[in-house]
Amino acid sequence: MSNRTGLAPGKNPLQVELKLEKRVPTEYAVDSHHWLILHGRYVCMARKPLCFKCAVSNYCSYKPKTMPA
Ligand code: SF4
Repeated sequence: MSNRTGLAPGKNPLQVELKLEKRVPTEYAVDSHHWLILHGRYVCMARKPLCFKCAVSNYCSYKPKTMPA
């Protein structure tokens, strides 16, 4: 999800983690971990993200936004 959205692109999990650590303010580190997991589980799902329901779609780099079926 970090790659798809452009939040913290990287070629492997370590690169993504390091970019997330730079990007996310320290005071949000713990909460953002949970927010990203929940967002990936219920909205930005791997196979079919629900872009049309997504509260952060305006900030997301993913171009082929999904539409309702
Ligand atoms: S707009 Fe789509 S791809 Fe981007 S974060 Fe939301 S659900 Fe994910």
